[in-house]
Amino acid sequence: MNDVSAGRRNTDIDTKRIVTAAEAFLTAEPHAMTAGIEDLGLKAIIDELPDFFYVKDRDSRFVFANTMVARAFGIDDPEHLKGKRDFDFFDFETARRFFELEQEIMSSGERSLDMEELVSSPVGDVITCRLTSKIPLRSDKGIVVGLIGVSRDITERRRQDDFRRGQAQILEMIARNEPLEMILEALVILVEAEVGGTSGAIMLLDREGRRLYHGAAPNLPGAYSRVIDGVAIGPNVGSCGTAAWRGVPVIVDDVMTDPLWADFCAIAQQYGLRSCWSTPILTAQNNVLGTFALYSSEVRRPKPREMELVAMATHIAGIAIERKRGDERIHFMAHHDELTGLPNRAFFKERMAKTLHHARRNGRKVTVAYLDLDNFKDINDGLGHGAGDEVLKEVAARMANSVRASDMVVRLGGDEFVVVVVHQSNHDTGITRRLRELHKAVRKPIPYHDNQIAVTCSIGVSAFPSDGATAEELLANADAAMYRAKQLGRDKLHHHHGTRDAEIDLPVSEQEELRQAIISDQLMLHYQPQVDVATLEVTGLEALVRWNHPTRGMVPPCDFIPMAEESGLIIPLGLWVLNEACRQARVWQDMGLPPIRIAVNVSAKQFTDNDFARHVEEAIERVDLAPRWLELELTESVLMQNADRALATMNALRRLGIGFSIDDFGTGYSSLASLKMFPFDRLKMDRSLIEAVPSDKTAVAISLAVMSLAQTLKLGVVAEGVETEAQCEFLRFAKCEEAQGYRFSKPLPADQVAAFLRR
Ligand code: C2E
Ligand code: MG
Ligand code: MG
Repeated sequence: MNDVSAGRRNTDIDTKRIVTAAEAFLTAEPHAMTAGIEDLGLKAIIDELPDFFYVKDRDSRFVFANTMVARAFGIDDPEHLKGKRDFDFFDFETARRFFELEQEIMSSGERSLDMEELVSSPVGDVITCRLTSKIPLRSDKGIVVGLIGVSRDITERRRQDDFRRGQAQILEMIARNEPLEMILEALVILVEAEVGGTSGAIMLLDREGRRLYHGAAPNLPGAYSRVIDGVAIGPNVGSCGTAAWRGVPVIVDDVMTDPLWADFCAIAQQYGLRSCWSTPILTAQNNVLGTFALYSSEVRRPKPREMELVAMATHIAGIAIERKRGDERIHFMAHHDELTGLPNRAFFKERMAKTLHHARRNGRKVTVAYLDLDNFKDINDGLGHGAGDEVLKEVAARMANSVRASDMVVRLGGDEFVVVVVHQSNHDTGITRRLRELHKAVRKPIPYHDNQIAVTCSIGVSAFPSDGATAEELLANADAAMYRAKQLGRDKLHHHHGTRDAEIDLPVSEQEELRQAIISDQLMLHYQPQVDVATLEVTGLEALVRWNHPTRGMVPPCDFIPMAEESGLIIPLGLWVLNEACRQARVWQDMGLPPIRIAVNVSAKQFTDNDFARHVEEAIERVDLAPRWLELELTESVLMQNADRALATMNALRRLGIGFSIDDFGTGYSSLASLKMFPFDRLKMDRSLIEAVPSDKTAVAISLAVMSLAQTLKLGVVAEGVETEAQCEFLRFAKCEEAQGYRFSKPLPADQVAAFLRR
């Protein structure tokens, strides 16, 4: 109805002037006026007007109308409108609205100028927006005899205004840094409003430049969007995949026949999509960021104006996406270390605040391990910075691989890293072990060109809440503990303990202190009961050494056994433990308690010591303890050192009647070979396995396999670190014989054991 091009051509005709002229000349009654218009030669001009122009009588009947009006009613000759009313063309409501307004204007005599109104046209069912003026027409006596109406179709102008406003809003959203999805969605909606009968979709190309992922498609069937989400781009992958591949628009007017859609037309058909025009979204450097597509249910091609709109939309989308990527890059760069890709100190601070907040709320512990490479300077100086960088990258990767997804590995700078472990429960189960595994992972030699670079590291550990309440305190204490680990000879894991790290410059070295401790009664043994899973009767006690330090308080074995092993002090220490355990066993028997098996841990150096078998023999003889009440716990590392020798020692002691158990079985270092090769009586299933049952299916499978293996090899099984009823239930179900753990009892000082046994 509205001929836009004609309109554009003629907009310079001033309608207001014509109306005023007509008003001035036509002061007769409306019918005479028509003749007047013709007389004045105005008719030709008025017909040429891009505006609607009409004259109505007092009853709102057309007296005169120009071609625009006639055309809007679908009538060829304006003459045919004479005598007709709006009721003859419009729906009743619209016609009544016009009628009442006109009657009001005529009875009041007041003109009504520039009214904006939405009119649903009687032809073609289009809604148009008009700017209308209605002016009462008076006779020379001043009586209102009719009205003149002029109105202009401003639909297009309004649409352009709306569009510009929408465009401005979207640019504002970009400037305000609103979420990309929202910006893209607004853009799609804006274009859809302009290009009738289409649904838009923006897809984003992944960083590898291989696949397109959903960006925004507010009006496309959700199921269809999901089906095409992640589609790989290529030379014939529908419209979008191909457009992204070629970097130019791909217009497909019928997906059912176009070869590009061969693989996708069935899906499109399912959702009633028939044509699809896709335009790549490009960066300023013409790199593809994604695609902007318009789908229609009809076979159709876009008009030039529609493609102009799409071009504008892809341009804006490009700005929005590039800007977001830039922000992400900046954020990433601000929070990550370029060399290793690990988060940096800024990230650590940000994240730790949240982590500690959660830990506080849920009563969880958080462990902070500060790791520093021991010989990094030598590597840098000796092999060059290239080698140094390789080492840092490799160490970073190993650390990142050996932690859980919920943990955090950070590079603080240089060769300093931090690992943050959030405990899954409110105790420390497995944490030290996991840190040791991390330690092991780091210290494997690193291949470099044809060489191997040996690295070791020192780790200092602090824990929330005992060693600090804030990220800074925890970091400072972990750092101090790390420094301590360096002092203790490097390549160590050291825990922060209260204030003692403050006195870092101890006059005596810790080794010397331990030597003193062994001879001056600072060591003591705690005993942890092992129980029969079915009857809960105590079947044995494991002796666990403690160092009752004059200033540090009770020191756990993991804080001094490694040092004792390294320094050789483990031999006198182990000897003390062995003798003390046997002595205590004798005391309990003398107290009239039923004899019970005592298990003593033996470390590698100790076991391979030439005199070990003799020492054991002497220990039991000295207190007259029957050998069967003593069991020695060995770890696989003991056997690995010198298998032949270990086997010989084991056999010699077995001949005496002493038992053996393999400790920490299932930690990943235990092999079936050693189980078969060495004559063990019992297998101790490691705490890390038990910790994970029954919830972790793999752990369940492994422990069931271990138990059935033990059965085949006629070994008893002790489950270590049992803490929950669920674990007990699993053990009963799996027919595991014995268990040990906090569920039954923590390690107890000797004087409490008697009471426990009597109970
Ligand atoms: P291990 O031989 O595997 O000893 C078991 C450890 O697990 C003990 O830690 C014990 O307190 C702990 N534990 C027992 N039940 C539970 C539980 O339900 N939950 C948790 N979270 N932990 C539990 P401890 O006493 O700190 O001993 C650590 C390690 O130190 C021992 O591991 C052993 O390898 C070594 N060790 C202890 N005493 C001696 C010793 O006299 N000589 C040698 N060579 N090593 C020793
Ligand atoms: Mg043990
Ligand atoms: Mg163990």
